[in-house]
Amino acid sequence: MTTFSLENRVALVTGGNGGIGLGIAKGLASAGAAVAIAGRNKVKGQSALSELRAISATAEFIDLDVAQETSCHQAIWHTVERLGRLDILVNNAGTTVRKQPQDLTLDDWRSVMEVNLTGPFLCAKLAYPHMVRSGGGKIINIGSMMSIFGASYAAPYAASKGGIVQMTRSMATAWAKDNIQVNAILPGWIDTDLTKSAREQVPGLHDRILTRTPAQRWGKAEDFAGIAVFLAAPASNFVTGAAIPVDGGYSIMA
Ligand code: NDP
Repeated sequence: MTTFSLENRVALVTGGNGGIGLGIAKGLASAGAAVAIAGRNKVKGQSALSELRAISATAEFIDLDVAQETSCHQAIWHTVERLGRLDILVNNAGTTVRKQPQDLTLDDWRSVMEVNLTGPFLCAKLAYPHMVRSGGGKIINIGSMMSIFGASYAAPYAASKGGIVQMTRSMATAWAKDNIQVNAILPGWIDTDLTKSAREQVPGLHDRILTRTPAQRWGKAEDFAGIAVFLAAPASNFVTGAAIPVDGGYSIMA
């Protein structure tokens, strides 16, 4: 196997049926991996699957509600059953509720934490024995600029994405001995369904991001293919516990 090859590797990308997850899934497929994309929306899933199968014949859509424990068990099981093994887990599925802290209900809080933090914990825990069995693995958790910064409308989202970074470091520490590398990607502002709603709900956001981002553009789902291949491939075998911004410079400009 060469440095950036994913031949004979199997990846599961949660929320791989659209947005950043699909950008990552396409990158992994291009590098030779068999890829399972998992999510709730089957229509999006089938459309994403056709795009993936144009790159690699071995791709599957798997039903997953990452907020449901049983569904996480089934998704990991179906990936291994249909594709034979599990080497790469991308915890990408994510959601948000945009309200000021005083207006958030406990259900709002829990719904974001369950999808963005508890689900990734559970999927990683369930993937672990499969990775140990095959001698190692790669876990890629998707954080955010809200892993670093806060926003008045993002208390549960920022808490969950800050938690993703600390969970990444803890799992990386625990599982380095098993040859499992665990890293996080922190996207900047990316043009997807999630931020389409933000642009509608937060006045002036679109232009503020353009001004604040040194690259002077919003990110695209395709911007995540390269970093995902790196973090999934032998190229990153001595990289673990890192949280890597992919943000056009957003997080480094004063
Ligand atoms: P999208 O809304 O396009 O994608 C989110 C994905 O998560 C969807 O495919 C959705 O699938 C899936 N998902 C949501 N809830 C669940 C659930 N309960 N169970 C299973 N799947 C679920 O947004 P992005 O591509 O932008 O977001 C992807 C990740 O990137 C998220 O973790 C997000 O927080 C993070 N991120 C995004 C940024 C951006 O600027 N876009 C910035 C920083 C981080 P389905 O439709 O089937 O529910």
